[in-house]
Amino acid sequence: MTAEIPATSRAAALTATGEALRVLDVEIPAVIERDALLVRMTAATLCGTDVHVADGSAGDVGGALPLILGHEMVGRIAAFGDGPRTDSLGQPLAEGDRVVWTHGMCGRCRACVIDGEPSLCENRRRYMTESAHTYPFLHGGFSEYGYVYPTVGRVRVPDDVPDAVASAAACSLRTVMHGFERLGRIAATDTVVVQGAGPVGLFAVAKAVAEGAGPCAGGPVAGRRSSSDHPRGRPGQQPGRPAHAGHRPVHAGVLGDGSVDPHHHRPRRGGDHPRDGQAR
Ligand SMILES: [Zn+2]
Ligand SMILES: [Zn+2]
Repeated sequence: MTAEIPATSRAAALTATGEALRVLDVEIPAVIERDALLVRMTAATLCGTDVHVADGSAGDVGGALPLILGHEMVGRIAAFGDGPRTDSLGQPLAEGDRVVWTHGMCGRCRACVIDGEPSLCENRRRYMTESAHTYPFLHGGFSEYGYVYPTVGRVRVPDDVPDAVASAAACSLRTVMHGFERLGRIAATDTVVVQGAGPVGLFAVAKAVAEGAGPCAGGPVAGRRSSSDHPRGRPGQQPGRPAHAGHRPVHAGVLGDGSVDPHHHRPRRGGDHPRDGQAR
């Protein structure tokens, strides 16, 4: 490890659900596993899942505290483990290069190899699920330094992509791409309706435009279920109906917390309605 890397990294960690994050000094691993990376964060952005973990609604994380939150981030490579210095596309990587990365999938279990469902990987290494006391300690994005697990996909970020966009893309765009893969080809005669203009929705609009969709309508910002459907929803605030007059809507992306009610806002006959970014 090079001399300028400190022994500890300041990190915003969850020490009790429902309470404010605390800034802790977390050990920086002295040993970087083969194919792993140590990075110095340049940006980390906030996902709805971070909020659900922080307030306890995503389930019990008591055994993993203190927990560094954040799973969409971008950083510059500070140190390499042994192994090829390339990204997932085979592009060469050097110290100082910016990268974004995924959760870690083993690529060797049934879910990864046969079912094509890497998110169900039996040996998955996910960010924000392990304690900052457990090697390699830096399991989240809200930290000066971060750790790229050996099995994660990683991509070098082009110089002209701003940190904030690259960071958000590490979760939101990845989520959108998965939804569009499931959706299949979009024709120029198709209308795309995106419900919920959060980061997932904005990337969905960009992807739909890049796909060559016809009219593309964005839904209202942060449309939420009624309070009877969602305990933290704001009463009476409902998203508007998709603007699909005269066209066949093929896609209705959903805000990151999956809060748009598909029963009130469904596509018309023959349309498809993938729902992205739902943690629950
Ligand atoms: Zn996320
Ligand atoms: Zn696997």
